[in-house]
Amino acid sequence: MEINPVKGTHDIIGGEANLYSMIEHTAMQVASCYGYKEIRTPIIEHTPLFLRSVGESSDIVNKEMYTFEDKGGRSITLRPELTAGIMRSIVTNKLYANTDLPLKFFYLGPCFRYERPQAGRYRQFNQFGVESVGNPSFFQDAEVIALGYRVLETIGLGEVRVLINSLGDEESRTAYKEALRKYFSKHIDKMCSDCKRRLEVNPLRILDCKVPEDIEIVKGAPKMTDYLSPASKAYLESVIGILKSIGIETEIDSTLVRGLDYYTGVVFEYHLPKIEGVDNIGALGAGGHYANLLAEVGGPSYEGIGLAFGIERLAYVIKTVHEFDTNFGIDVYLMGMNDSIIEKNFALADMLRGSGFSVESNYEVKSMGSLFKTANRKKAKFAIIVGEDEVAKKEVAVKNLKTQEQTLVKLEDLENVLHSLLNAYYASEYESPKEE
Ligand code: AMP
Repeated sequence: MEINPVKGTHDIIGGEANLYSMIEHTAMQVASCYGYKEIRTPIIEHTPLFLRSVGESSDIVNKEMYTFEDKGGRSITLRPELTAGIMRSIVTNKLYANTDLPLKFFYLGPCFRYERPQAGRYRQFNQFGVESVGNPSFFQDAEVIALGYRVLETIGLGEVRVLINSLGDEESRTAYKEALRKYFSKHIDKMCSDCKRRLEVNPLRILDCKVPEDIEIVKGAPKMTDYLSPASKAYLESVIGILKSIGIETEIDSTLVRGLDYYTGVVFEYHLPKIEGVDNIGALGAGGHYANLLAEVGGPSYEGIGLAFGIERLAYVIKTVHEFDTNFGIDVYLMGMNDSIIEKNFALADMLRGSGFSVESNYEVKSMGSLFKTANRKKAKFAIIVGEDEVAKKEVAVKNLKTQEQTLVKLEDLENVLHSLLNAYYASEYESPKEE
């Protein structure tokens, strides 16, 4: 009997995995430029960690967690996001004792949410993110938002919209929640059962409701921006101003509240503008400021700011918008015409790989035609042909598979010649087409 993959999971294979690696390496590189250091935390955590941080009013905790009892009777959860685990790690390892604040971490890894699978929404997906904890200031908030923007720009998605809002300080939020309670109480009879619960626990969550009739009611709700205290308003304006000064435009979206309970203050999301042929897959990435999260998991009351990107969403957009060719190919396909040469080629391939070339070779005697077909299928840039004559003269034939030009090269010069041939090959890829 065939065993299917678990619903909402997917295999990432070959060229697609190359694309994931490219995105992940770029993101890590950009985060390193801002002084962030890597952190790796466990995929499983004790369930109460997420109840306390992500929050009992969130959809994640209410409906989407993969929670099970382990053989020791403990309630364990597959992490739905990484921020909570990182805060737990800061407390476990007393990293807050570091006097050099803020603590700045980047992370990468799988997350699990029991959601309805659809475009851009999986049950196991990968997040890249950063957290900056301690020493809060609008500069820190702006730094994280800018970092995310630069990641997108570097992977070729510079055309994104940055939506921003503020959930205000305690005082603003209490006043706003009260206004929402008053407004939604008048409409709650017509709303879904989730919203009825949300009204009791946290009316902010109603703003995230995806039920079409409820969305209409939400449109008439009071706006957060009208309830911000002067200090929260000034803070948001400072973040927007500092981002503008480095060329990053933001758009205030007063309905943006994010679905996790720990956010306070500034929240933001990165979205693609509408593009033909690209599904609306929601935010590419998102994040915000959290004033109480570290304290809620047992640490000191340091404030923090973080963001997370979904790698699946970034990969999907790059593939569909930029028609990114995920099949990178190899530098060299090494061809041996008989058994003894095939054996010698094993050592030659090993030497070339040691010099950094990507090389494959044939292990069975085949016709020239068939070997060239294999080389083309593997998207080799060059074929190296080694026959009896070549062995005798200690030279090989190097053929450019794009131009079909062939050169005889002494074995002792092979490495240097290959380097220059490859450089010329890449240079020709970027040349503008010549006029006839
Ligand atoms: P969140 O942790 O909910 O703030 O989400 C941050 C980012 O993770 C989103 O902007 C998405 O890019 C990504 N993401 C969240 N949920 C999923 C999912 N179910 N499948 C794929 N990506 C997701």
